[in-house]
Amino acid sequence: MEIEGYRLHRWGDAPRWDAFSLPDPGRGEVLIQVEACGVGLTVLNCMNGALGDSPDLLPVTPGHEVVGRIVAVGEGVDSRAIGDRVIAYFYLSCFRCRWCLAGRESRCENLRGWYGVHRGGGYAPFSVLPEGNTVPLSESIPAVQATVIPDAVATPVHVCRTRLGLGPGDRVAVIGAGGGVGVHMVQVAAACGASVIGLERGDEKLALVEGFGAVAEDSSDFDAVTLKDFDGRADAIIDLVGTRDSLTWSVSRLATGGRVCLLTTFRGVELPVQPREFVFREMSIVGSRYASRAELLEAAAMVERGEVRPVVGVSSGPREVESIHDLLRSGSLEGRGALVWESQ
Ligand SMILES: [Zn+2]
Repeated sequence: MEIEGYRLHRWGDAPRWDAFSLPDPGRGEVLIQVEACGVGLTVLNCMNGALGDSPDLLPVTPGHEVVGRIVAVGEGVDSRAIGDRVIAYFYLSCFRCRWCLAGRESRCENLRGWYGVHRGGGYAPFSVLPEGNTVPLSESIPAVQATVIPDAVATPVHVCRTRLGLGPGDRVAVIGAGGGVGVHMVQVAAACGASVIGLERGDEKLALVEGFGAVAEDSSDFDAVTLKDFDGRADAIIDLVGTRDSLTWSVSRLATGGRVCLLTTFRGVELPVQPREFVFREMSIVGSRYASRAELLEAAAMVERGEVRPVVGVSSGPREVESIHDLLRSGSLEGRGALVWESQ
């Protein structure tokens, strides 16, 4: 089919509005009509080539946080799927290896890349993706709100529930708590029963964090962060910033039995640790990678139950997405952005 949407023609460039032809869904694939697509820092990183920068992949339509409806199916897909409302799973996992079968699809042994990088995503009004990359979504959640589910809420569900096992009584510090993932991390941790301190910079983001029930602390200078409400130490520290400064601070502020969870990483950043400290106080460093499809379902359920309130600071119609990118780059976007294809 002939469509108009955004495509990236060179890694690191802005996506360009294009007319192009979208192939029919192949074996095991579905065609979805996109209602809306989330816009966050991960999309910018993808467009900069962080998850793949081969010229062979271009041109490609970016955008992985897709909410839409299946409108056609390829060979081998039950046609009863047509009409289903879905959200997209980001990892192009095989869904057949031992990790995928165990419901740990982000650990896939045969990962084929990422939706929106290795195949076209939601910066266009239609998209073709593997059936396995679609997760059912209730009709009750408006499209703009639902764009946060597949990454900005699902990632915190994986961190808080699966990787850290947070529960009542846990004291949790979130570094970067006012960002697109952070503001949802704070809510998911609180929904698990934990007490939360959110670290951020700037009055607006600190106020945003407080608005979601966390105690906010200014982390412009890590040496000045007190964690006073936790008597100075946290049971879990979730680092969404991933700099040497934030990591060094995290390790130094763990309580006995404490865990640092890492999910934002940059090449070349190293973390100095003293193994003796880790032994004496039984501390851990935990890595966390995206989420499973079951966690996308749970993220949607948490939004539907009102346990997590989606924070989408700005939404725009087609042809205006560059203005959202500018807000993201300047750090002034509240929560996530959304590119809306279908009138609500
Ligand atoms: Zn797999």
